[in-house]
Amino acid sequence: MTGHRVLVIGADGAGMSAAHQMLRTARDRGRELAVTVLDAGQHTSYSACGIPYVVSGEVAGIDDLVARTAQEHRAAGIDLRLGSRVTHLDLEAGVATVEGADPVEFDEVVVATGASPVMPAWSRGPAGEPVAGVMPAKDLDDAEAWASRFADGAGERVVVIGGGYIGVEMAEAALRRGLEVALVTRSRVLSTFHPEISARVTASLVRAGVEVHLDSEVEGLEVHEGVVTGVRVGSDVLAAHHVVVALGVRPATDFLAHTDLRQPNGALRPDERGQVAPGVWAAGDCCEVQARPVGEWVYVPLGTHANKLGRVVGENLAGGDLRFPGVLGTAITRFAAGEEYIEIARTGVSTRNPGNIADTCVSLVTEGTTITGYMPGAPTITLLVSADRITRRLLAVEIVGGQGAGKRIDAAAAVLWAGGTVDDLAWMDLSYAPPVATAWEVLQIAARRVAELIDHEAAGG
Ligand SMILES: Cc1cc2nc3c(=O)[nH]c(=O)nc-3n(C[C@H](O)[C@H](O)[C@H](O)COP(=O)(O)OP(=O)(O)OC[C@H]3O[C@@H](n4cnc5c(N)ncnc54)[C@H](O)[C@@H]3O)c2cc1C
Repeated sequence: MTGHRVLVIGADGAGMSAAHQMLRTARDRGRELAVTVLDAGQHTSYSACGIPYVVSGEVAGIDDLVARTAQEHRAAGIDLRLGSRVTHLDLEAGVATVEGADPVEFDEVVVATGASPVMPAWSRGPAGEPVAGVMPAKDLDDAEAWASRFADGAGERVVVIGGGYIGVEMAEAALRRGLEVALVTRSRVLSTFHPEISARVTASLVRAGVEVHLDSEVEGLEVHEGVVTGVRVGSDVLAAHHVVVALGVRPATDFLAHTDLRQPNGALRPDERGQVAPGVWAAGDCCEVQARPVGEWVYVPLGTHANKLGRVVGENLAGGDLRFPGVLGTAITRFAAGEEYIEIARTGVSTRNPGNIADTCVSLVTEGTTITGYMPGAPTITLLVSADRITRRLLAVEIVGGQGAGKRIDAAAAVLWAGGTVDDLAWMDLSYAPPVATAWEVLQIAARRVAELIDHEAAGG
């Protein structure tokens, strides 16, 4: 292959979005690029987001999560090499050292290596070896292993460590497979949410049968002949046949440790065109991104950002000019087990971190229903709306509720994106029909109440 040599490291969402976009743009511009993609694993372009649903049995198998196979990438002209872990990058010489293979030379490089699951020392054996029954839920191999363990595990006990999105989704998967579930979290469930929203999620988990341990620190595992039998939490031992470690992720950038490109947390900081340094580009979970509207750097490893920033990198590397416009921290998940069904969503600054919130922030929790009250089975919804009492700018919205609650976050995100006020959200033209909404849309009632509170305070009330 001839042409300008581009090496992409990492063959999932960010890396393959970049690789395909650079080929499309180069073709349109009559340029020739020789694109090599290396990945340490054996899978490409898969939806890690779908892992909990394979584990639960809702989705038949890991093949269903693969958007494009290795063969399809190669047919598109990409020199894709799986089982190829990069251990060192010489940026000056343009050479990548690859474990067990010849070095690869490049003119420009895209770092799209994602993130590695946090696995504390206690989650491994004395010599750092894996303990049978203790795993993260990070990649397709994990998905396959958990799906098979849970499929045969009805009646057994799983302890999920971590109360973030993945912890909640894996708790759901285990319940749906008929396992008994305990969930241990250092603080609250979904601790980036406001305590009132988080408490509603916890209540839903408890009603579904999850034994929830809040404010609980895991101190170690009980292991018998290499197989986990329990989790030590304070002076208690929680019996466990399986332990899901869902404690978050860290940027997978160790091979760049000798450079000055990394932040203390290991993340790279690509500019809005996706560039980290001359000839060095990056996208996805190995990166921090800038939060709107102020532009502070945040580590929010989500598939939505990985795909978008990957596309931006591919376009610009091939001579185009796209800008990544930043993030709001918009996110959504679901917890559904037995009779329990809730959707949980957020957008805007975290109400957990007071440093993120101006002193002038005013927040209010509103309760309502997602559809008109006289329709049978109207699901309940709880919303937290935060706005700045001086500028009236919308700052954040959090939602928990039944069917149809969660995607309401997108209307709030659109207002936030445009820099709108709580009044914009309260008065914009949203849709209504009794089976799907309320005449005064509940999101708008919640916004209006915050607007009225601001007026009331301004009037000296
Ligand atoms: C269980 C789960 C559920 C999720 N749910 C959601 C969701 O609902 N919504 C959402 O937006 N996001 C979700 N995410 C996050 C989303 O999956 C990630 O943000 C996304 O996969 C990041 O893509 P990426 O390409 O940056 O990194 P990754 O998907 O991590 O891919 C990085 C690739 O780089 C390879 N690699 C790493 N190091 C090296 C090296 N040294 N040499 C060669 N190759 C290397 C890895 O093998 C991997 O294939 C979820 C993640 C998980 C695990």
